[in-house]
Formats: sequence, structure tokens, C-alpha cells
Amino acid sequence: MGTPHSRTVAEGIAFMNLIDGQPADALSGERIDVLCPSDGKVFASIPASGTADVDRAVKVAHKAFEDGPWSRMPAVERGRCLTRLSQLVEKHGDELAALESRDTGKPARQGKADVTATMRYYEFYGGAGDKIHGDTIPFLDGYTALTLREPHGVVAGIIPWNYPMQILARVAGAALAMGNTLVVKPAEDASLTTIRIAQLALEAGIPSGVFNVITGYGRDAGAALSAHPLVDYVTFTGSPPTGTAIQQAAAVNNRGVTMELGGKSPQIVFADADLDAALPILVNAIIQNGGQTCSAGSRVLVERPVYKRIAEGLAERFSKLVAGPHDADLDLGALINARQRDRVAGMVAAAREAGVQVLAEGSIAPDAPAGGFYQAPVLFGSVDPLATIAQEEVFGPVLTVFPFDDEADAIRLANGTDFGLVAGVWTKDGARQHRVAKKVRAGQVFVNGYGAGGGIELPFGGFKKSGHGREKGFEALYDMSATKTIVFNHG
Ligand code: ADP
Repeated sequence: MGTPHSRTVAEGIAFMNLIDGQPADALSGERIDVLCPSDGKVFASIPASGTADVDRAVKVAHKAFEDGPWSRMPAVERGRCLTRLSQLVEKHGDELAALESRDTGKPARQGKADVTATMRYYEFYGGAGDKIHGDTIPFLDGYTALTLREPHGVVAGIIPWNYPMQILARVAGAALAMGNTLVVKPAEDASLTTIRIAQLALEAGIPSGVFNVITGYGRDAGAALSAHPLVDYVTFTGSPPTGTAIQQAAAVNNRGVTMELGGKSPQIVFADADLDAALPILVNAIIQNGGQTCSAGSRVLVERPVYKRIAEGLAERFSKLVAGPHDADLDLGALINARQRDRVAGMVAAAREAGVQVLAEGSIAPDAPAGGFYQAPVLFGSVDPLATIAQEEVFGPVLTVFPFDDEADAIRLANGTDFGLVAGVWTKDGARQHRVAKKVRAGQVFVNGYGAGGGIELPFGGFKKSGHGREKGFEALYDMSATKTIVFNHG
């Protein structure tokens, strides 16, 4: 803050878009207030960009791609820029962590964890881009055939508000490593660290015009970006309906997309599992970031003989959980905005009304500001697996737990939603670990552990309604590039 890319005005800090390496207001001059979820108070503002701003940013990114040097630079050189960006994220880690926590309401230690993951993304992709290569292919006599991995061109990244800095890093790290240029539209509720990281990218030596940021509402800036004819590829993380809208917009130009659309991820606990080891991880998998995590473990399936023990263990822990302001660094912070809080509260109320049993509830810190968007954690027990609360993504601190009878039943229940992002399997039986991991329809399966968020090296993405395409790890570099086949007829 206080950077050349923002100015201080009476109501707070006015952040700017970053287009062609320069700070830019929306052409309309319109702005969006930035609220801190912990107290609901305005502390900054961002440009409310529209179609004309998007058009400008995309044309800049297109020109930067066409003219180089970024797209033609040796991969190792691009990698060095990303490595320097990682180092700059570390250098500015305290500022970035504090900004992320204030902007999203997440507890201070989660903001710090997000900085660590962000550094790691740029470090990983800084070292990975020059390790991707094509093949030579046995072909006809007198021919040599080979493949190259080429960048798409302009990548549009539409980023959600739950882990803005991390999700930006997984998009930007992979896209930039492969030589694409970027136009990023962060969420209107959490844009600040994206603007800061793009400034640091310039400092790291990434040329002007390669990493552009436009802020604004999804329906305006987001819709214009996903439909722009000069955008070559769209990557999105967010809700399924918005993912559908973005795919429809990109389809008009027949552009490729990566879609990460959330989940209703199961954790399957067999009776032979180390229950004491599982319990804190079961709780953390839903409470981390207030449950606003795509890969949150929001359904716990328990083999009937240990159901009571697990339900009681979860209830004991849930009743002690406390939500409070980000700087108090409690178990969870406020939810991102009033709409999200009301949505979660509405789903909880509907489940109660439908007679779903509440096993335990956490609390909101008594001194939490009245204007904050708090939701106490709720644990629902003996839930009908087909109940709305067990089927739909809540994106809040709400856990459902229900029993199963045998392995086949567990797999049927685990696969019994529209989603398929992540799953956890808890058992000491090695053969069962393999069988269940293979039968569960999820992009990631953890055995005797669970990784909500993080896991930079691990390919990540969904089956079914959770989306398609893969982020993280080397796989993301394939999504962020296209194969070109070249055939030489040399006789
Ligand atoms: P939420 O409904 O909680 O805001 P979304 O999945 O809709 O979650 O938002 C994730 C991102 O998608 C944000 O950056 C948002 O601005 C953007 N977005 C929302 N609607 C659209 C749209 N119609 N087209 C493109 N982007 C959109």
C-alpha cells in the first residue's frame, strides 16, 4: 500500500488496475468499496472496470504476446523471473499476509500460510517451465515428426475470493512459465493482493503488458473478459453456475477453458482407522478458511461401529470452535460478505427446519464487531445422504456426518453427489486403501490424511460438476499450452 499504484483518498486506499505496467482507473471512473469482513467497514476501493477497460487490457496482452519478448524468451529466463517473484513475495510477506487477511477476513495465520503457498507456486513454476518438452514420434520412412508445447497466447484468469493470492499464483505461475500473457480479473470482494502481486511481477522483471489486472464485477468485467475474441484461453475457479456462464461466453469464440468448480468432498472413516489421528484433520478440513475452500471435506462418512465415537469427537471439538476478527487469529474468521453469510445461515436454518439433527455448534467471539459477517460452525449428525445440506456445497463452516455399513456402501455414498473434487480415506488396511482410492470419483484422494488447499506439486481438478482440466503441478503446464505437431518430409 502507499505504492505508486494506489493513492490515498479520504475513504481509504484507492487501488488501481495494472495495464501495460501502468496504474489505470476504470475509464468510467467508477469504483467499488472494499470492506473488511471482520467489521464490515470500508477501508479501500478498486476500479469498477467495464467492457472498454477489458478491451484495453486484452489488446495490451495480445500485443505483448505477439511482439515478445516474453513469449519467445528461453523458458529458463522466464523461470528466473518467476523465481524472483517468489523471492519478492517472501520479502513482502508480512504486508501481503496482512492485506489478504484484512481483505478476506481470514485469520492472520491463514494469511501467512497463503503467502508461503504463493511463494512456493512461483518457485515451483520458476523451476518447472524449462522441464516441459515435446516428443519425437516414430512415423513413416523418410519423415521425422516431433511435437512442441506452445503457449495459447492471452490467458484470462478469473479468480475467486476465497484464496485470491494462492489461486492467482497457480494460474499465473503456470500460464507465465509457458510463455502466455495474462489478463487477470480478481473477485470484486478480494482484489487487493492480486494488484500487489502484479506490481511485484514488474519488479521481478516480467515485462510490461505481460501481467495485467483489471478489477470489477463479474457481470461486467468478468463477462467481457471471458467473451473477448482476443482471449485465447480462460481459466476459472468459482461456483458452477458462473463456470457455466464463462464456458458459454468462451464457447462463442471456441476457446479452451480450465474449470475448477468446487465440491462436496467426502472423508470416509473405516472402523480400523487411527481415529485419534483422523479427528483433528476432519475438523480442520472443513473449518480452514471458514469452510470457504473448494476442497473442504464437508461430508464425513463413518463406518457404523465407530460412528458414535467419531460423532462425539467431532461434536466436542465443534463446540469449542470460535469465529472472530482476522487479527484475533481464532479458529475461523468472518465469511467474505453479508450475502455469503446469509446464504450459509439460510442453508443451516433450512436443514434445521427439515429436522436434521444438530450435534454441536461453535460460537462467535463476544467481542467480534457487530458489523462483521460471522457464522458459527455447525455440525449436523445422522444426516440423510440425500438431504440438501449433504448434497449442495455450503461454502461455510458446516459439516455433515453420517454412517455407512460396508465398503460398497461407503463408495456409493462418497460418489453420491454431483461433485468429485477431493476425497479422504481413513483405514489401516492397505488393500482397501487402494481399492477405495481407485473407486472414488475425485480428482485427488488422500489416504490417512487430507489436504484442503496447498499441495503445489499435486495435480488438482474435478470430475463431474467439479469441473475439468487440471491445475497445480506439471499438469497445469499442459493445460496452459497446446501441442503443435511438426512433420518433416526429408526423403
Ligand atoms: P460468488 O457468487 O461467490 O461471487 P463466483 O463464482 O460467481 O462466486 O465468482 C468467482 C469469480 O467469477 C469472481 O471473480 C467474479 O467476479 C467472477 N464472475 C462472476 N460472474 C461472472 C460472469 N458472469 N462472467 C465472468 N466472471 C464472473
